[in-house]
Amino acid sequence: MLSAEIIAVGSELLTPERMDTNSLWFTQKLNEAGVELKLKTIVGDDEERLEETIRDAIKRSDIVITTGGLGPTEDDVTRQVSARAIGRQLVYHAELETVLRERFRRWGREMPEINKRQAYIIDQAEVLPNPNGSAAGMMTEANGKLLVVLPGPPKENQPMYEDLVAAKVRAMAGGVLVKRRLLRVSGIGESAVDERIAPIYKTYPSVQTSILFSKSEIEVHLAARSENEEEADNALLELAEKIADALGPAVFATNGETLEEVVGAMLKERGKTLAVAESCTGGLIGMRLTDVAGSSAYFLEGAVTYSNEAKIRALGVSEETLAQHGAVSAETAEAMARGMRERAASDYAIAVTGIAGPDGGTEEKPVGTVFIGYADVDGTRSLRFTFPGDRYLIRWRSSQAALDYLRRRILKAEAA
Ligand code: AMP
Ligand code: MG
Repeated sequence: MLSAEIIAVGSELLTPERMDTNSLWFTQKLNEAGVELKLKTIVGDDEERLEETIRDAIKRSDIVITTGGLGPTEDDVTRQVSARAIGRQLVYHAELETVLRERFRRWGREMPEINKRQAYIIDQAEVLPNPNGSAAGMMTEANGKLLVVLPGPPKENQPMYEDLVAAKVRAMAGGVLVKRRLLRVSGIGESAVDERIAPIYKTYPSVQTSILFSKSEIEVHLAARSENEEEADNALLELAEKIADALGPAVFATNGETLEEVVGAMLKERGKTLAVAESCTGGLIGMRLTDVAGSSAYFLEGAVTYSNEAKIRALGVSEETLAQHGAVSAETAEAMARGMRERAASDYAIAVTGIAGPDGGTEEKPVGTVFIGYADVDGTRSLRFTFPGDRYLIRWRSSQAALDYLRRRILKAEAA
């Protein structure tokens, strides 16, 4: 497999204010072409360090892409440094100066003399015109390796890559492409997932399978390398289906969908409606559900009932329930769900009450204790969880558990 590396150039990328996002986009494009990213570097606008970095990169990687540092000012050094790093001169391209002058004329301005620098290109390099900016890119082979020098702004370098570089990379990679698929799994641990699916994915050597823990679920990433797109898609689909069969309802997405999208689609398909009563999640579940376009077809309302008083007034939770069992209890969670469902006249309601911390835990109910209430036409149920993590993670995991509980109840009712 061909190796690539990316060099992000710009002193601003070494401050806390700016992030290098270019490399993420380029990594995906390279991977899709079957090229593996081996290294990425962030270098300031520093001639010496940049030259060193490009020299080393050309030695060890098949494809080297730099972004940034092609502006007209003194601090933009990538143009001359990349030439020097591969032992070439910069040569003047009159046609580039014409294009630059024309650009400025269109804005009704005279081209500043310093912009003339942008008409210089590495000797023997292919000029990569930039329709969205003043800095042209360059592409050249050096010691049998490919060096691609692109400007920093994503709006400029992305179309340049797609239109002028991608085909070259694909040709170098021998027409191999990589397609991906993501499955999401809830309610089982990483090792249990691997134990059950390893015998399956091992029979697909052309698909690279990796199992990752995300903040509230397990992700199974599949990547198929093939010269034929349809073949790759078919291998992915087949393996995804086998994995979904082996893991059963724990798999909630077989093609990268989020849990809120999956639950939304289930409600929509069945013509059912949902209302949500939230305490410790503070509206997070309502936000996630309504992030999905078209959610008005099934999401009726959500209430953030943080205080006891609100749970009594807005949901009809009784004072006795709160006094006897506490606000964080199975009884309160179920009463919240029941009250929400009645008031919203929805098919389903889910409710969350818990202790997100860092304060408020007791020995009996430590921080992370969360009860999920569920109500449907047949009555109410609840589940108790003890989530690890900080306040943010406990709230996120609570929202995930609530949505997943609803999903599993709907599936279970249908299986019965
Ligand atoms: P330059 O070609 O160095 O003049 O880059 C100009 C602008 O491009 C910067 O101010 C950033 O806004 C953007 N930029 C440069 N490098 C990156 C990067 N690695 N990731 C995201 N944006 C970038
Ligand atoms: Mg810069």
